[in-house]
Amino acid sequence: MPLIGKASPEDLNIHSSQYQWARKLYDQAIANTWYPHEITLKEDLEDWSRMTDEEKHAVSFIMSFFNPAELIVNRVLALGVYPYLKAPECHLYLAKQMWEEANHCVAFEYVMETFPLDQAKLYHAHIETPSMQAKEEFVGQYLKRMTEDRYDVSSVEGRKDFVRNLVAYNIVMEGIWFYSGFMVMLSFRQRNLLRNFGSMINWVLRDESLHLKFGIHLILSILEENPDLLTAEFADEIRGIITRGVDLETTFNSDLFPNGILGLNADYVNQYVRYVADRRLEELGLGPYYNVTNPAKWMSSATDVYELVNFFESQNTNYEVNARAHKK
Ligand code: MN
Ligand code: FE
Repeated sequence: MPLIGKASPEDLNIHSSQYQWARKLYDQAIANTWYPHEITLKEDLEDWSRMTDEEKHAVSFIMSFFNPAELIVNRVLALGVYPYLKAPECHLYLAKQMWEEANHCVAFEYVMETFPLDQAKLYHAHIETPSMQAKEEFVGQYLKRMTEDRYDVSSVEGRKDFVRNLVAYNIVMEGIWFYSGFMVMLSFRQRNLLRNFGSMINWVLRDESLHLKFGIHLILSILEENPDLLTAEFADEIRGIITRGVDLETTFNSDLFPNGILGLNADYVNQYVRYVADRRLEELGLGPYYNVTNPAKWMSSATDVYELVNFFESQNTNYEVNARAHKK
């Protein structure tokens, strides 16, 4: 059974799952289930009152992007991914992922409601801030093609659009932008601040590392099943989508850190973004583009989800290793 296409009545049985990685990721995702109110923010509120305006701006700026972004991912999954997959084990996993994105949205809302913040300003930031709007429009443009009447997943152009959309929302948004935000938010815990919020971010990060794993499996499997997509031109285009995502994040980071905070500024975060983008390029079997070192090596040791984060952050997974892993 090919991965993409029109689902038929035969595609409703998970008993003999062909794509075992999807089934395994579902079980892993279920085991990772958590709830926002398991986190108490009392100590974090005390930390908050001692933080500088620049520090508060950084945390709230990222949350005002993340909160709606979680629901954008769900829109993309519901309208641009789920309808074009045949494998029921993929539908199984996506059902859990969609609950997780909803849970993340509620989790950020919980923090945004608990910290003394200008709520109206916070919830409107993604509509009014050009650097956030640009990121949303980037993802939106690829989803739009998936929802047009003439869209046909069985044509070469349709399958290319399916992959472009996957690269935009999964590799760029979930795999690069989200990781950059996690790093900034977790940097406070490195300074003994916002530790409970940090635990929550760890849980979100643990979920996102599976979302990313699922997306990479999807992309690699689709490329494997559709050799007509494997052209140098299309590889260049995928690389271009990723580097455009990095450029958008660089602009966003100037608004995130107009002046920098203790131990962190836009250049530092931009270098991390480029480092992570190179890892994603490698995971897709494309060579690194930026060739920079990881400025935030503490990221892998700062999380208690070491083995999951490690899968993407610390290993130099090349195409062969990854291609082998995704067949299992
Ligand atoms: Mn999420
Ligand atoms: Fe996600």
